[in-house]
Amino acid sequence: MEIIVGKKSGFCAGVRNTITQAEKELENNANGLDCLGEIIHNKQVIESLNKKGLHIIDSIEQAKNKVIIRAHGISKQVYTYAKENNIKLIDLTCPKVLLIHKQVQEFAENNYFIFLLGVKDHPETIGTYSFCGDNSYVIENTDDISNALNALNSSNLKNVLIISQTTFSVSLFEKIVDMISNALDESFNLHIEKSICDATNLRQAEANEISKKADLMIIIGGQNSSNTKKLVDVSKNNCKNVLHIQTIDDLNLDFVKKFDKIGIMAGASTPSDIIEEVVSTLQSI
Ligand code: SF4
Repeated sequence: MEIIVGKKSGFCAGVRNTITQAEKELENNANGLDCLGEIIHNKQVIESLNKKGLHIIDSIEQAKNKVIIRAHGISKQVYTYAKENNIKLIDLTCPKVLLIHKQVQEFAENNYFIFLLGVKDHPETIGTYSFCGDNSYVIENTDDISNALNALNSSNLKNVLIISQTTFSVSLFEKIVDMISNALDESFNLHIEKSICDATNLRQAEANEISKKADLMIIIGGQNSSNTKKLVDVSKNNCKNVLHIQTIDDLNLDFVKKFDKIGIMAGASTPSDIIEEVVSTLQSI
């Protein structure tokens, strides 16, 4: 059995920084800290931080301690609520996400209509959208384009920005950009901001390459991790057998044994020890 492990698998810089900083902050806050939403989409990491005093809260109204803001970022309304209620934030939003917040605000102030490409219910998209102003529309897939163009036309704006969630699918971004470019006549001024993060870009490109060679792809990452789901989608384009697992416990070894060439990729919130455990178990078969 040949095993190909993607070099870009696992923690991105933003997630690594979030975990490192959260651990440091927990050492300095004996009463524990709150975190708005799961700090990363990984059960094992969350359980380990829980033991060190991290409490996950679902909304800012539940805050009882200082609140960690994870790499995905938060909405304008959450910043305002925290300020008005003297809730201290430890803002670990990834700098790349903060840059997008700044960019959309500036474009909105300059009378641009904003098409934000992203998964509608993803926290990063919700956060970024809150900075886009009224003249904006979230596009999750090509089915949304017609309504998005109607919203643009109703606004009477002629400047248009296309920007995306940092973990959006590279191929879907290009497809949507093409469709919108073709739909707009010369009276529109279209600006495209390629805001998909390099870590996402490289990981999707690597999953694409490995899945062309492998007869089974194993993608490791949280079931609700957006960037992991993209790796599954990319792999399915080239490989008939794609498994999405969270840990080695989800793997049916009798099934896996049938394959000669296995590709492994992992999402941005998968710790290296979980990847190593899968690899070493496969090597031992
Ligand atoms: S995927 Fe990119 S933008 Fe998102 S947290 Fe990681 S480094 Fe930051």
